[in-house]
Amino acid sequence: MRTLVLNAGYEPLSVVSFRRALLLVLAEKATIISADDNKPVRSAQNSLPRPTVIVLNRYVRRPHRVLNHVTRRGVLRRDSYRCAYCDKPATTIDHVVPRCKGGENSWENLVAACYPCNSRKADKTLSQLGWRLRVTPRCPRTSTLFLAGLEQMEEDWGQYLYAG
Ligand SMILES: [Zn+2]
Repeated sequence: MRTLVLNAGYEPLSVVSFRRALLLVLAEKATIISADDNKPVRSAQNSLPRPTVIVLNRYVRRPHRVLNHVTRRGVLRRDSYRCAYCDKPATTIDHVVPRCKGGENSWENLVAACYPCNSRKADKTLSQLGWRLRVTPRCPRTSTLFLAGLEQMEEDWGQYLYAG
């Protein structure tokens, strides 16, 4: 079982094993803000709740990450798996400006799209179709999309990952 680590400002920072999380808590470097009370961790002296989310007591500067590294999964996650054109569940990604018209593989030019919209759009531009984007695609600001270990999320992580 793993624990979501939030920076002191509550931005998601990383995912660690719950043992590592407990060590941070015991060293008074972090505080438990959500725990699975059904599975306490027992040691010789005491019984501790098993943390699912902890927050660091002191703000740490995030390492500089390469934020412009675009992935299919990252685009889908940024757009909450909703089609940028019709808001239905999306499983594909679409180049807003088609590649054959010079569109880049960039955060600004890639959006989540449902399969029907993607195939209808094909190599056409938005103005040719008269379509509009529901949101302006941007490079994500938080590290959320780049955290390792988010493939299997614990139940109570969502509110911290996608708040704001
Ligand atoms: Zn669609």
